[in-house]
Amino acid sequence: MCGIVGYVGERDCTDVLLDSLSKLEYRGYDSAGIAVFENGEITVEKAKGELKNLREKVAEHKPMGHCGIGHTRWATHGEPSDINSHPHGNKRVSIVHNGIIENYKDIKNFLIEKGYTFISETDTETVAKLLDRSGAGKRRQGLSSYPH
Ligand code: GLU
Repeated sequence: MCGIVGYVGERDCTDVLLDSLSKLEYRGYDSAGIAVFENGEITVEKAKGELKNLREKVAEHKPMGHCGIGHTRWATHGEPSDINSHPHGNKRVSIVHNGIIENYKDIKNFLIEKGYTFISETDTETVAKLLDRSGAGKRRQGLSSYPH
């Protein structure tokens, strides 16, 4: 069963997210990841396997910020892998998700017709792309025209 955490505050967000995810490990998971809002954009680190794999990646390049989300994944769509791990999104929009998006194939086909490409096998990535298409995160950056 997956686990989801989020943090906004004055502490080091990456440390809080990793500590929080460690408290959810008992639920079972196959991969883990975090997204941290850092210097005006979102930085993502994720890794297949135990949380220590993610900690090792973060030790090489630690996202520094005060706002972020974290996830431990229990795969339903797509094998456990670095790419299929959550969060999904881009530098403006990032999501984690628990459960199954039943109509994800319809959403995915719609978005492919609109020119989107997908890098993971997950159902979750369709919602990240749908949010991107809706303009989420773009107004904050002052972008007035959307490419798709
Ligand atoms: N369906 C999503 C996936 O396979 C979420 C799985 C979960 O709840 O961890 O990535």
